[in-house]
Amino acid sequence: MSARILEGKTFAAAFREEAGKRARALQEKHGVIPGLAVIIVGENPASKVYVRNKHNSCEALGIYSEVIELPETATKEKLLAEIDRLNASDKIHGILVQLPLPKQIASCEVEILQRIDPQKDVDGFHPVNVGRLVTGQKALIPCTPHGCLKMLQLAGIPIDGANAVIIGRSNIVGKPMAHLLLAENATVTICHSHTKNLKEVTKKADILVAAVGRPKFVTADMVKEGATVIDVGINRIAPKKLVGDVDFENVKEVAGAITPVPGGVGLLTVAMLMQNVVTACEMQLEK
Ligand code: NDP
Repeated sequence: MSARILEGKTFAAAFREEAGKRARALQEKHGVIPGLAVIIVGENPASKVYVRNKHNSCEALGIYSEVIELPETATKEKLLAEIDRLNASDKIHGILVQLPLPKQIASCEVEILQRIDPQKDVDGFHPVNVGRLVTGQKALIPCTPHGCLKMLQLAGIPIDGANAVIIGRSNIVGKPMAHLLLAENATVTICHSHTKNLKEVTKKADILVAAVGRPKFVTADMVKEGATVIDVGINRIAPKKLVGDVDFENVKEVAGAITPVPGGVGLLTVAMLMQNVVTACEMQLEK
């Protein structure tokens, strides 16, 4: 029997609606409009599209949005000064620096991202937020893995006691995903490029998350009958053709539930960013 398809648009709509509702509640209760600032450096066309999507999403939900465009030649000092200004702004509750950065400042990425006030770090990349997530404290959580967790929950997929296997250990997806599932009482295994007998490990997964960055890496013989398969991968194999890390057509015949690419996890990320802006605002008001 073919798997249940977990359509990203259904879950993203629910996450956006929740963010909008909470944003309205903040305005009614506290007279505060949550605000997001996105800094973009240079002319990367893909980055410009992502930034425009974030801005439009904010506008649709009544979230204040500022886009700060710096020239390709901007220095590290200029970017840090801009972050300092936004850290001090009452109108801004979330700050995001669009990656990748241009060559001359790319090597300073860690320093730049850590200059963002952890309370306004809506990407959840600051070590303070990473530490809070790992130690089970309230944190701003990276949008993509957080979206995956919330999707599993909303879809009614059992997590407590499940065997969860994550392929990939990046700071953006794999590691936070592991901590989120662990906090929900899954038994978590993280795989990476040095993992031996990968197929034996993935075959035991009730929940299998692929965050590898390799087209159709997860094949049907790696998946347990009835497992839930979350495909985080986005791989461009031709100018207009995106595929995930999972061989969707064959794996859907084995899995119990599966996310497609495109149309799956990719749609959750901006919706979760909206939630993070509202969460950041709520946390700042609690102080
Ligand atoms: P990274 O390249 O940072 O991490 C890839 C991980 O896969 C690494 O941990 C690597 O292991 C592991 N890996 C690579 N080859 C193998 C292998 N043969 N066997 C087992 N593990 C392997 O990628 P990201 O986590 O940033 O992204 C993963 C994918 O998700 C990409 O396609 C990216 O485009 C997509 N993505 C999608 C998002 C969305 O919004 N939907 C957001 C972010 C990412 P090792 O550590 O040993 O090198």
